[in-house]
Amino acid sequence: MKLPEALVNFFGLGGIETLTSTHPLTLASFRSIAGIEAVVSPIFPAILVCEIVFLAWAYHRSPHRLYAVYKIPVLMYAFNWIIGLLINIDVFLWTQRHFTVLAPFTAPLHVVWFFYAYVVWELSHFVYHWTCHKVRLLWVLHSPHHAPKHMNLGVIFAAFFLQGTYANFVRTAICSILGVPMELLILCMVIDACWGSLIHFSEEAWPSGRSGCFLDSLLLMPSDHRVHHSSNPEYIDTNYCNALPIWDKLFGTLRREIPAIRPRYGLSRPQKPNDFTDTYFGEIGLLWRDVRNADTWKKRALLVVMPPGWGSTDH
Ligand SMILES: [Zn+2]
Ligand SMILES: [Zn+2]
Repeated sequence: MKLPEALVNFFGLGGIETLTSTHPLTLASFRSIAGIEAVVSPIFPAILVCEIVFLAWAYHRSPHRLYAVYKIPVLMYAFNWIIGLLINIDVFLWTQRHFTVLAPFTAPLHVVWFFYAYVVWELSHFVYHWTCHKVRLLWVLHSPHHAPKHMNLGVIFAAFFLQGTYANFVRTAICSILGVPMELLILCMVIDACWGSLIHFSEEAWPSGRSGCFLDSLLLMPSDHRVHHSSNPEYIDTNYCNALPIWDKLFGTLRREIPAIRPRYGLSRPQKPNDFTDTYFGEIGLLWRDVRNADTWKKRALLVVMPPGWGSTDH
């Protein structure tokens, strides 16, 4: 019996299904980008299920905590899934086609050029993520990701539905214009999606969030992303990269976790506890209120493009 499409998509089994529908599955099937994607895609959903089971065990004396931890991410996943059924905005192919023609060269498919591609990819992620924090209209898209008060793998589903569209546009445009071909771009996206999910491990499942070896200085670890999600003044607006901290180092935004300062998750404004409407629409509501109350058109325009908190007293 065929699994419902939504479940197949959620558990990342679409790639395996596509591979097996055309040819019998052999080792050679996995030596392609589609093959790598098919193998990698189910890894995160499987780890997520393990984390849910682990937290269910850890909170078995107070099951309401499990409900509180996953309520907002699950509601946002469901809400975005329904919107995705109604509106399907896929800018990836369009952007790739239109920006590749502007590239002065195309990187060859070689392992050395893969490293070039990944450094460029991380730059594009830095630009996308930094602008999400520094332009108030884009913060509207990104703030639901920062709203959860508990860090766990479900937080990756916490996002305004247009955030993915903006991310796809910026990252694809920058990579394409800097000569990253489609194959390397997809490979970078697969690795990024995987690592970018795993850095949301809960403190219960991975208390230190560090590997304890050389990887801690080479990669951004869950501990570093916890710092990014924190509203503590010492941590706010840091660690924009996803896997390689290279651009954070260069632009001075790299911040390691200080043992004495525990990350305090959530937004810096007062939030209604575990409230979906406030989490998803809170920032757009506040932006609309500030724009409406502004006394000049210049101030209205600036409120939209300046960083969160500009011209306002309650951020
Ligand atoms: Zn962020
Ligand atoms: Zn995150």
